[in-house]
Amino acid sequence: MLNLAPYAANPALSLGREFDEPPSNTRNAFQRDRDRIIHSTAFRRLEYKTQVFVNHEGDLFRTRLTHSLEVAQMARGIARTLNLHEDLTEAIALAHDLGHTPFGHAGQDALNACMRDFGGFEHNLQSLRVVEKLELRYADFDGLNLSFEVREGILKHCAIKNAKLLGAVGQRFLDKTSPSLEAQLTNYADEIAYNNHDIDDGLRSGLITIAQLAKVELFANNLAIVQAKYPKLEQKRLIHETIRRMINTLVVDLCTHSAHNIAQHQPKNISVIRQLPALIGFSSEIAEQNQKLKQFLRKHLYHHYKVNRMSAKATRIVRELFTGFFENTGLLPDEFQTYAEIDKARAVADYIAGMTDRFAIREHRKLFTVEEYL
Ligand code: MG
Repeated sequence: MLNLAPYAANPALSLGREFDEPPSNTRNAFQRDRDRIIHSTAFRRLEYKTQVFVNHEGDLFRTRLTHSLEVAQMARGIARTLNLHEDLTEAIALAHDLGHTPFGHAGQDALNACMRDFGGFEHNLQSLRVVEKLELRYADFDGLNLSFEVREGILKHCAIKNAKLLGAVGQRFLDKTSPSLEAQLTNYADEIAYNNHDIDDGLRSGLITIAQLAKVELFANNLAIVQAKYPKLEQKRLIHETIRRMINTLVVDLCTHSAHNIAQHQPKNISVIRQLPALIGFSSEIAEQNQKLKQFLRKHLYHHYKVNRMSAKATRIVRELFTGFFENTGLLPDEFQTYAEIDKARAVADYIAGMTDRFAIREHRKLFTVEEYL
C-alpha cells in the first residue's frame, strides 16, 4: 500500500466504529478488523459450511472457509493493482459469508421461507448481524465493533425496507449511492472466485464435463490456448491450467476496465466515489462471457438432479428444525431460549443460521430420531 490512491479508503479517515476505541499501536483500523474477523466463532464455522456441495460429500470440495480465502487473495491482488486499500478488501472478503446458513443457497431459501412472516432471512444482512450483534466476545460491546467501511462492504445488497432499519450502513441503499471501491471490487472477487471454483468442483465431482464446458466461450477460449501449448496434457492439469487462465482473464479485464473508469472520472477522494456510479466492473465483452458462464453453472451444476436431491434434503432439514424449535422453544439451548422470549422467530433463525452443515444434520437427528440421545 505504498501508493494508496487519493480515492482509496483510508483507515486514518475511517467513518469509525460504533463504540469508540483507542487506536492500536501496531495495526491500522482495517487490519484490526481483519484480525477480529479471523478470531471470531462464525469464521471458524465457515470450515464446515458449503455452497454447492454438502460438507461431508468430499474433502476436496471448497468450503465457505476456503472460498473466503480465495476471495481475499483475489481481492487483495486487485486492490494492489488499483492502489486501493488491501487490508480493507481482505477484511470484507473474510467476513462476507459469515451469515450464511448451513447447506448453501438451499438452506438460505428454506430459512427465508420460514421467516416470511417475521421479516425474512437474508444472508448479507445476517453477516452484518453476526459482526454487529451475534459474536459475544468483548466486554464493552456486542459484536466485533468493526469500522464502518468493513460493515458497508459486508452489506452487498439490501432491500429498502431493511435498509431503513440499519442506520448509516443502510443509507446508501436509500440514497442510491455507491460503496467504496474496495467494497465494489471484493464483490467481483467473490463472483470470480465462486464461478471458477464451482467449475473446478463440478468437474471433479463428475456432475459437469469438459465437453459441456467447451461450449462456454470463456472456458473454450482458454482451453484452446492450453491445448495448443500442451497437446498431451493429462486432464487434471488441463483443467487447472484452463481455470487459472480464466481467472486471469477476468481479473485482468476487471483491473483494466476499472482503471479506465477511474481515470475518466478522476475522483479526488472517497466521498466523490460514493457519489459516482460504480466504477469497478468488467468490459462489456467479458461481462457478457461471464454472464454466460453463470448461466451454464446455474443450469448444469446448481440444478443438476444430484444437487437438487441434496438441496431438497437440506430444505427439509432446515424447515423441520425451524418448526421444531418454533413450536417448542424449550428445545433450544439456554441462551437462545432467553432470546426467544423477546423475539422467538429471530432467535430460532439465528440459531439455525449459525449451524454448520454437519451440526444441522446432527441437531435434526437429535430432534426427530428416537434412537439419538441429547
Ligand atoms: Mg461468497
